[in-house]
Amino acid sequence: MRVARSLAELQQALRELQGRGPLGFVPTMGALHAGHAALLERSARENAVSALSIFVNPTQFGPNEDLSRYPRPLEKDLELARAAGTQLVFVPAVEDIYPPGFSTFVEGNHVAEPLCGARRPGHFRGVCTVVLRLLNLFQPRRAYFGEKDLQQYLVLRRMVEDLAVDVELVPCATVREADGLALSSRNVYLSSEERALAPRIYQGLRRAADAFGQGESRPQKLLDVASQGLESFRIDYLELRSLPDLGPLAEAKKPCALLVAAFLGKTRLIDNIQLK
Ligand code: AMP
Repeated sequence: MRVARSLAELQQALRELQGRGPLGFVPTMGALHAGHAALLERSARENAVSALSIFVNPTQFGPNEDLSRYPRPLEKDLELARAAGTQLVFVPAVEDIYPPGFSTFVEGNHVAEPLCGARRPGHFRGVCTVVLRLLNLFQPRRAYFGEKDLQQYLVLRRMVEDLAVDVELVPCATVREADGLALSSRNVYLSSEERALAPRIYQGLRRAADAFGQGESRPQKLLDVASQGLESFRIDYLELRSLPDLGPLAEAKKPCALLVAAFLGKTRLIDNIQLK
């Protein structure tokens, strides 16, 4: 496994790998867990060469968010990447992604407006900009994204369509703990009491999905069912939205999704369930 720590090293490594066949690419912010491993393993399975980037992207963090304390266990990440069949890892410095004079941003699109886009101003502008730059650097055949961050995947899907980026975006199912909590690099922030409460988010989503399966289509009823048991959380949003545009819905009808962001103490957790 090659580890490229600068743009020059990345370009050299990509030149050497050229001609081997299709490239699969998994962009991440590191602090890798089994959710990331699932993306990496799939990328390795479906492509001749599988590449990973680890970059805690400052432009997608708000001023009061966790940029400086985001976990960065690089050696452990490299072990996980190697075990998942990765051939190339890009660990850029901030200046490799945002060199002096950098001033072009992808502003986003209508899919980026609600939900996390409304609560985290500038977040998807940062995400779109970094992902487009990484896609241009790697020029992969396929890039892999987790449905854990469903809005992110849908925003990027709109972006590659609108800007004619020649890549297939592959959505991958959310990997969960045995008790249903979606794996996240931010779960390490949870105290043991918060960790014990955290699975309630997904339990609520599952109950609402079951109610939908039994014929309940009134959005407010589904949201009420989903929010039961979340008294200890500060709900940032809990909404029913259409797929793939994340538009508002007067009635639940397939395909749609329930999406939630909720704070437990200082930690913001997100999750979603698709009704399809
Ligand atoms: P992150 O490093 O958290 O920005 O995530 C990098 C990629 O891994 C994104 O496409 C995420 O959606 C995906 N990912 C994160 N957590 C999970 C999970 N529990 N299951 C599946 N994919 C995930």
